[in-house]
Amino acid sequence: MADTPLESDLESLHAGDTAADAPDLSSPAAKLKVAMYWAASCGGCEISFLEIHHHLAAFSDAAELVFCPCLVDTKYSDLEATDDRAIDLCLFNGAIRTQENLRMAALLRRKSKILVAYGACASSGGIPGLANTSTLDELMERVYLTTPSTDNSEGVLPRPSTEIAPGVELQLPPLLPTVRSLHKVVEVDYTLPGCPPEGKQVWMVLQAVLAGDLPPPGSLIGAGRSTVCDECALEKRDRRVSRFRRPQEVVPDGETCLLEQGVVCLGPATRSGCEARCPGVNMPCRGCYGAAGADPCGDLGLKMVGVLGSLPEPGDEQEIQSVVDAIPDPVGTLERFALADSRLPQAVGPSSSEGERP
Ligand code: SF4
Ligand code: SF4
Repeated sequence: MADTPLESDLESLHAGDTAADAPDLSSPAAKLKVAMYWAASCGGCEISFLEIHHHLAAFSDAAELVFCPCLVDTKYSDLEATDDRAIDLCLFNGAIRTQENLRMAALLRRKSKILVAYGACASSGGIPGLANTSTLDELMERVYLTTPSTDNSEGVLPRPSTEIAPGVELQLPPLLPTVRSLHKVVEVDYTLPGCPPEGKQVWMVLQAVLAGDLPPPGSLIGAGRSTVCDECALEKRDRRVSRFRRPQEVVPDGETCLLEQGVVCLGPATRSGCEARCPGVNMPCRGCYGAAGADPCGDLGLKMVGVLGSLPEPGDEQEIQSVVDAIPDPVGTLERFALADSRLPQAVGPSSSEGERP
């Protein structure tokens, strides 16, 4: 029995929704049929697809884009009319924030042989998942009424529907009570992490798809097996830390491990795959590739707590605790890309479909 409106939505979706048992491309059509969809997303994942650069020519010889609202004007009704499992590969980016995201996740699951959670938002909630620190009421108030840049003296909030011309109604999809990752709402065949995924990794995955050489469903693809630290050229000198600072408070020396310079870098617990892109330019890793280890949904924040506890100067428990407690914005720092999937409590308010707002 569903306890919340979201659970009820999911129950009804799963009732008629079967995930792909195993991707089967043994009888490929002339060209691989590919879909790319954005749910609660920034669009960066679509752009990352273009980072396969000149390989786009080879890819377009072998595949055709049959659904991609960012690039191709295909209507949802066209997708609904498509045969089930007619799409060979669906790259689904963005988190599940709205009723529309939820319905598209279920629809694309049904229409696709291979469904890939593409990017951090689809894989683990990503940046949109940070909204789970607040209820919907708190979010609405902050976003539309109280941010320093807001000019909304009449206190207008988004409405579920607005008549923009006689007889013409504009509707906004209702928000769900919390942001979810894709695998929390439908079965996902593969997880391709990163915010956004690296072009090199994307091309390797596409080659594997075209060659029919993917690992078993449920696997992580497009990422390494070690950690960002292992790919990072900065030197570890076993220095202890007396205080953690925000990146803008430190002038990095360009040679030493950022953690040892007091900047919280998630490299020790983040899976490799990006070639340590951020520490390579003296910025701390924020964990967009997710937690290192075999579990595609491991908890990065929990792994990092152990690392951080070992860094302060030796002292009594209280002194060490005070160094760790002073980490700025611990949730936003340690769970930046995976709060929606973490074990931390999430702020759950009523679904907006129950209230006045969308
Ligand atoms: S994973 Fe990053 S690039 Fe992709 S939609 Fe989310 S925020 Fe944007
Ligand atoms: S260094 Fe970390 S935050 Fe930067 S791209 Fe790599 S995994 Fe993502």
